[in-house]
Amino acid sequence: MTGIEAVLTVDLGAIAANWRQLSAAMPGAVAGVVKADGYGLGAGPVARALLAAGCRHFFVAHLAEGMAVREALGPGPMVAVLNGFPPGADGAAGLVPVLNGLPDVAARTAAARAGGQALPAILHVDTGMARLGLDAGELERVAADHRLLAGLDLLYVMTHLACADVPEHPLNAAQAARFAAIRTRLPAMPGSFANSSGLFLGPDFGSDLARPGCALYGINPTPGRPNPMRQAVGLEAPILQVREIPAGTPVGYGASWTAARPSRIATVAAGYADGYLRALSGRAAGILAGRPVPLVGRVSMDLITFDVTDVPLPSPGDRIGLIGPGRTPDDLAAEAGTIGYEILTSLGARYRRDYRGA
Ligand SMILES: *Cc1c(COP(=O)(O)O)cnc(C)c1O
Repeated sequence: MTGIEAVLTVDLGAIAANWRQLSAAMPGAVAGVVKADGYGLGAGPVARALLAAGCRHFFVAHLAEGMAVREALGPGPMVAVLNGFPPGADGAAGLVPVLNGLPDVAARTAAARAGGQALPAILHVDTGMARLGLDAGELERVAADHRLLAGLDLLYVMTHLACADVPEHPLNAAQAARFAAIRTRLPAMPGSFANSSGLFLGPDFGSDLARPGCALYGINPTPGRPNPMRQAVGLEAPILQVREIPAGTPVGYGASWTAARPSRIATVAAGYADGYLRALSGRAAGILAGRPVPLVGRVSMDLITFDVTDVPLPSPGDRIGLIGPGRTPDDLAAEAGTIGYEILTSLGARYRRDYRGA
């Protein structure tokens, strides 16, 4: 039944296929990054689809996200928390904290001592982002005294690329060189390096565990080149009304668009409160019956308006495609002046979610 709410379609089969494609191309293991509710698509369904495809390592940002993913997956696969554990969370059994500085290392080693057993952890070293990860001074201290890591079952040493989406950026090679140099000064352990774009930078960026996120969800990890990934998201909003307006009639808030000719306007049920960014005002298009229709006027909180003058007369209840074939999250991002990641993670809570191909 067609309701009057917009429908977000998540193609779990495409997400699984994207993971298998990356996994087949890599000598090492490939994780699934499902932070921010699986980039807005639903961490539980996405993680279960990845698990079924063979993925055994998952990354989230927050402890609460990790607990939800663990609940969705059951015991077994690694679920690591990129932002680390908050104080007192050492008992978060079954989750692995990423240690982003020496205070995190000290807290985890203390918890291991108190519990009388080694505790799993991932050691994050900064190689050029100045965001999270042990800095140069902290690394010197650890390199000089490996006992600082006593009691830790270090699953991986990881670092994160700042410019992987710009292959020619000199920071990429510099980070690869720094990561290799740092690893020689730490106890031997597996490494985790590339994000989605990093997977396409070549063998220097390979590791024991890649950490792709965006590519799994169909965002182009190779900007400026054809997208090697399958699209995973569709969004369709129902037409609430169709109206005929004479030339000279303004449409929407701020009267920012005025019909230059007699026009037919379709008003659909989605807006910036649903993550259809207001920056798209007057810039984007929708797809109606396979044809592009320009978005006119401002994006409102709950409504957007399209000029459907040049397509066959639609009926209320017909749906206009906002994301789909020919309207990718990357297209919307370019129109809104942002990145596909922000388009996906902004997707709202009011959509009916339709999971396909699980
Ligand atoms: C978000 C994130 C990833 C995944 O990045 P993508 O660009 O989406 O592939 C990997 N590693 C870390 C540390 C991250 O924060």
